[in-house]
Amino acid sequence: MNQSLRKVRIERIKVAKRLRRETGRAIERFNMIGHGDRVMVCLSGGKDSYTLLDVLLSLRSKAPVEFDIVAVNLDQKQPDFPADVLPAYLRALGIEFHVIDEDTYSTVKRVIPEGRTMCGLCSRLRRGVLYRFAAEHGMTRIALGHHRDDIIETFFLNLFFGGRLKAMPPKLLSDDGRHIVIRPLALCRERDIAAYAEERRFPIIPCNLCGNQEHLQRKRVKRMLADWEREMPGRVETIFNALQNVSPSHLADPALFDFARLGSQDSPAAPVRGWLVPEPGDEDAA
Ligand code: SF4
Repeated sequence: MNQSLRKVRIERIKVAKRLRRETGRAIERFNMIGHGDRVMVCLSGGKDSYTLLDVLLSLRSKAPVEFDIVAVNLDQKQPDFPADVLPAYLRALGIEFHVIDEDTYSTVKRVIPEGRTMCGLCSRLRRGVLYRFAAEHGMTRIALGHHRDDIIETFFLNLFFGGRLKAMPPKLLSDDGRHIVIRPLALCRERDIAAYAEERRFPIIPCNLCGNQEHLQRKRVKRMLADWEREMPGRVETIFNALQNVSPSHLADPALFDFARLGSQDSPAAPVRGWLVPEPGDEDAA
């Protein structure tokens, strides 16, 4: 084997090891999977969800707890969706899997005017179908393939366009309080996932079948982060570390930190009212 081929091979092995290590670390740090869990792995046919399933299957053989993995694909009836690809892949793996047929695509097309982004409604409908399926089939965890870069991009999207300090949590209780959603790839880099998916030759299904343009703002944030990383390698990692190292007392959200009690003898401190003194001209403006 020549030198460059050897290097490529070593790099591939390193990527696979890194993905397994980071996934194991996330599962442990956020206590994602316990003994007897039935983990529903949501498969879209993209590189992230294939990698998630593959890495989880590989970790399960040496895991300290016993748990089930059930792969689930929601066929949203997008035009030209190759419905046989995922079943063939999963059958070959010999694992339990289900394909849910639900035409959310037509609903989204009917409701959203031409030219407007469909992702919001599409994801809500998809979530609803998956949650219902999970409840009906005794799933105790719903695993999604979002990774570190998705989390960082979401953080900046919320910061720039939503006015909120909020990202995408590695573990989450659904709004209806019935489901625990986990993101075992939360500490994994997208670059590693892409390399792994290529190396493993997953039968990737294109993600643009719905005809929707990728979220323009997300694209911009992705580009911004890539530029930052080029200028200053390691910056994205630093940002991600910051998301795991938050100081509520050095932000400005009174719901997160009790600023009112700080320096006050009262317990709990009663804020003194009356500081909003009307300014001359306020009445005119009202
Ligand atoms: S890209 Fe298409 S399939 Fe994905 S959420 Fe948006 S509308 Fe739905």
